[in-house]
Amino acid sequence: MGYNVAIDGPAGAGKSTIAKQVAKENGYIYVDTGAMYRGLAIHFLNLGIDPKDTEKIIEACKDVEVTIGYESGIQQIYVNGENVTAKLRTEEVGNMASVSSAVPRVREKLLSLQRKLAKDMSVVQRTLAREKDVIMDGRDIGTHVLPDADVKIYLTASVEIRAKRRYKELVEKGVQCDLKEIEKDIEERDYRDMTRKIAPLKKAEDAILVDSSDMTLKEVVNTISRYCHR
Ligand code: C5P
Repeated sequence: MGYNVAIDGPAGAGKSTIAKQVAKENGYIYVDTGAMYRGLAIHFLNLGIDPKDTEKIIEACKDVEVTIGYESGIQQIYVNGENVTAKLRTEEVGNMASVSSAVPRVREKLLSLQRKLAKDMSVVQRTLAREKDVIMDGRDIGTHVLPDADVKIYLTASVEIRAKRRYKELVEKGVQCDLKEIEKDIEERDYRDMTRKIAPLKKAEDAILVDSSDMTLKEVVNTISRYCHR
């Protein structure tokens, strides 16, 4: 088994940006578990399912397979063989993922893939490496998916700061948005993630708390990298 680093935290805390950078500096493979929930969300949306229709979501889990691969080091998500990576990051998909990830059947579907990845990278398409050091981010990695991870980080920031970062990101992409709306959306996602019955978002007892509210990206990367050594 390779070295495993778990990064959990609320939406917009910067987990994926930070984890990608830490992966690059330390030679780890980055596994984005949120992208897997988003992949399933695309499947549900393609079937025209309403996010609140739990019965239909459970039913739709029967005939769907999510797999991952890497192209030039970048994680790709396949849903029933189709590469959906370019479609993952829309608000609609994020919203469906946030709601459907509270359904136990949805989490069950992805849990074994996530655990297998940390143990044995050969389950990944076109990857020959078996034992690899992995940095995995999500909401329940340190508490549930990899409770024995070598390093656990709980990365957070205030709602206001997370909303401002998201706003800036969207504006830079040319997307029209409202800061207050984004703040409200983040609060709702936090609430759903933290209060769901199965694998809710919380800091693992042995996780290191990193509050990035007043830190630069480089400072966060350096802080986390300091904890990551074999
Ligand atoms: O991190 P990201 O925003 O891409 O995740 C999409 C959704 O998937 C989140 O809103 C969260 O509810 C869910 N998720 C989860 N457990 C994980 C990763 C993501 O419930 N390990």
